[in-house]
Amino acid sequence: MSTDPTHGFATRAIHAGQDPEPVTGSVNVPIFQTSTYAQPRVGEAKGHDYARTGTPTRTALQEALAAVEGTERCTAFASGLAAEDAVFRLLSPGDHVVIADDVYGGTYRQLAQVHERWGLEHTAVDLRDHDAVRAAMRPTTRLLWVETPSNPLLKVLDLAALAELAHEAGARLVADNTFATPYLTQPATLGADIVLHSTTKYVGGHSDVVGGAVCTDAETAARLDWLQNAVGAVGGPLDNYLTLRGLKTLAVRMERHCDNAQRIAEFLAGHERVTAVHYPGLPSDPGHELASSQMRGYGGMVSVRLGDEATARRVAERTELFFLAESLGGVESLIEHPGAMTHASVAGTQLEVPGDLLRLSVGIEDVDDLVADLDQALEAA
Ligand code: PLP
Repeated sequence: MSTDPTHGFATRAIHAGQDPEPVTGSVNVPIFQTSTYAQPRVGEAKGHDYARTGTPTRTALQEALAAVEGTERCTAFASGLAAEDAVFRLLSPGDHVVIADDVYGGTYRQLAQVHERWGLEHTAVDLRDHDAVRAAMRPTTRLLWVETPSNPLLKVLDLAALAELAHEAGARLVADNTFATPYLTQPATLGADIVLHSTTKYVGGHSDVVGGAVCTDAETAARLDWLQNAVGAVGGPLDNYLTLRGLKTLAVRMERHCDNAQRIAEFLAGHERVTAVHYPGLPSDPGHELASSQMRGYGGMVSVRLGDEATARRVAERTELFFLAESLGGVESLIEHPGAMTHASVAGTQLEVPGDLLRLSVGIEDVDDLVADLDQALEAA
């Protein structure tokens, strides 16, 4: 009953995999804080034997995430990058991956500095240019890796078209759905084969836990489960519990994130010190039409350019409610300088981000207070 796919998003987020605990009736999935499980007979576990392999808390989180993404299965990991590592380990030396030319810096660092040493090859292109994507595909291309909206330039990508393009070339489409969240977009319904999350961000939602997840078909998930058990990148039960608790309120939080971000993008677009605003909710944004067709709302992330790096750095250091910090997707607003912070690992590469760019993760505070905070920082800078 609780995993009924016809239920609405919020119902699935609150109920899927989360029936009351059978012994006590606890309405919250307990934090099963144990590393091992007593077995009644040799080789006969009661469902769990060792916590690296699985725990009831992690199972509940995985069932809930699969239900909201509309996939057969989900495997939850210790972090978003651990989840990515497991997906890349599905490939073999000599295989090739096509990524975006503004992919998250940590994804690029992992591919270029970890997996390349073990034989994985990659090409970075602007994934909005489908001819360039076609030209980048090789007979050995196994994955087309997309983030939409992208981090940090908030480019919107056509998931259905890219899925078709990947499949024509015999590759699989991986969608990093961290920015959009399953509430705004469900990439699997548009053709993505693998949907990946840093649950550290919107799914967890409170900046108090690090985690990752891969939602996919049962066969691929079985390989990921095997890899996870063999490699060991598991989150602890408290982490899984916090992530599941965050997921329950994702729908209402995203509504507020979207409303606040829209108002802030409009404020910034009209400010004389701002040279460009990237936000798909602005009708002038190149991704607006596409975002309107594949997203339920335009998200909580806004990027802004200020003409020169010194001004950008000063603004980032002068906001008070917007904390100057890495990460995103929490209830509190954050501001950061991607060139020196989240995307420092791509400096000097084809993926380098503009020095005058700031990225805002718009929280769910009262929006008038957020606008006033940005206004005073821009005036003072
Ligand atoms: N994917 C995206 C789009 C991200 O922004 C991040 C982190 O910022 C990650 C993946 C990596 O996730 P984690 O920090 O949980 O390892």
